[in-house]
Amino acid sequence: MKEELKIQNLAENFHCGFVAIIGQPNVGKSTLLNGLLDFKLSIVSPKPQTTRQRVLGIVNQPNAQIIFLDTPGLIIPKYELQSAMMKIANRAMEAADVLIVMADATSPTDFDFIRDMVTQRLASMGLPMLLVINKIDKVPKPELLPMMDGYLKLDIFKEVVPISAKKNDNVERLKSVIAQYLPVAKPFYPLDQLTEQPERFFVGEIIREKVFIHFDKEIPYSTEVQIEEFKERGGSKDFIRALIIVERDSQKAILIGKKGEALKRVGQHAREDIEKFLGRGVFLELLVKVKEEWRKDESSLRNFGYSD
Ligand code: GDP
Ligand code: MG
Repeated sequence: MKEELKIQNLAENFHCGFVAIIGQPNVGKSTLLNGLLDFKLSIVSPKPQTTRQRVLGIVNQPNAQIIFLDTPGLIIPKYELQSAMMKIANRAMEAADVLIVMADATSPTDFDFIRDMVTQRLASMGLPMLLVINKIDKVPKPELLPMMDGYLKLDIFKEVVPISAKKNDNVERLKSVIAQYLPVAKPFYPLDQLTEQPERFFVGEIIREKVFIHFDKEIPYSTEVQIEEFKERGGSKDFIRALIIVERDSQKAILIGKKGEALKRVGQHAREDIEKFLGRGVFLELLVKVKEEWRKDESSLRNFGYSD
């Protein structure tokens, strides 16, 4: 009833729509989603391909509901997991009313990549596209104007917005720019909703983020996390048991570490963030299991939720 009342009181020209954030790996898409929401929803690491699934985050403003879709970075896939990730990114673009194409101000190759991608793939979608130049905290100001000019001259972007997602610089302005390009429509989600994915998805993501941060080489890419048990216990901490899956025994040994110390550290850091995310205490149990070549195995990928 309360919700209905609120909706009846909405501004007459209320805007609502889906906005996909796309770009190469590591440009800062997930950092931007979190900045837009002012909440850490999507996992972030200094390594590329941290995000594997579409992550949906809802921003409510007096005149608009903006539904953001964070996506895996665009790459040429080399194995089945990456192909599934690219399908996920493509589906997010197809669902979008507006595309945010993100460039990294510190990456000299981004311009050519974006020009080619936009002219070859995106232009035909007929969606309004905004170009966001991220990480402006890392480049001298005089370099920024020619960069913006280069993108504007392509004549395909409605606007070019320079930001620093990490320092939250110009992110508020980006929000108001985006709202203008959304269709006039009623809110799609209740006004107090932040996402549509379940808590257990984000718990798994937080554990995966810690593996991305604490381990190198192939380990983060060979790791998947499954939540085996998630019990809310009245009056006591939640009980969560998660399985960390890797591809080889040698990776399992590294993840566990001497006397289990490496795994303990992952568990400790993950638990702190999970508690922040859930807003309540948890008891986290981690187990490590080997599943050979899961990244190339269609049925494992289906089990882990990487398919239609
Ligand atoms: P994604 O792969 O595009 O989702 O990129 P992430 O959001 O995971 O960020 C990749 C890396 O870039 C992380 O180490 C971030 O902290 C960093 N990063 C993101 N935005 C900025 C920014 O505005 N400035 C700087 N200096 N670093 C950033
Ligand atoms: Mg990401």
